[in-house]
Amino acid sequence: DETLGLLLSRIKDVPDYPKPGVMFKDITPLLADPQAFAALTGVLTELCGRYGATKIVGLEARGFILAAPVAVQAGVGFVPVRKAGKLPGATLRQAYELEYGSAEIEVHAEDLAPGDRVMVIDDVLATGGTAEASLELIRRAGAEVAGVAVLMELGFLAGRGRLERALAGAPLDAL
Ligand code: 5GP
Repeated sequence: DETLGLLLSRIKDVPDYPKPGVMFKDITPLLADPQAFAALTGVLTELCGRYGATKIVGLEARGFILAAPVAVQAGVGFVPVRKAGKLPGATLRQAYELEYGSAEIEVHAEDLAPGDRVMVIDDVLATGGTAEASLELIRRAGAEVAGVAVLMELGFLAGRGRLERALAGAPLDAL
């Protein structure tokens, strides 16, 4: 519809970034347009309400930019999931496979607890590795997964399939 058309028009394709052969989806024009940014956070906030989220997890780094205003609008807490080594307190840590090698993400253990229904927000779902690891962290903390919402899903990378097991029936929305 009209809102999705506006969002789409504010995403820039950047060829050969960060390396040759990759078409990078740049969301900075969308963030710089207050109408588009507000429309995006509005749609994401609506999803969080629909799925009964009581906490919002944002994935470093662009996920932070989207998840924080959504958490404020939804009236629930924001929880950062960060690359390993950035959080000062006691953490849960999860490793995941990349195309070449592996990576680790962390969350403060005290930020998620049994009884929480957690919505994960990020800008782009690519291979699904980051989102999958974040769902593992949520479950290991004893919390429940309310869903995953992203602005864009790169369908050819099959992230949705990789996430299926970790979602365990929870919804994955790609705008
Ligand atoms: P995945 O773990 O699904 O392979 O990668 C997803 C992560 O990489 C997300 O946190 C996302 O921000 C970033 N990412 C991968 N490709 C793109 C892209 O084309 N554009 C943007 N903005 N982020 C991307």
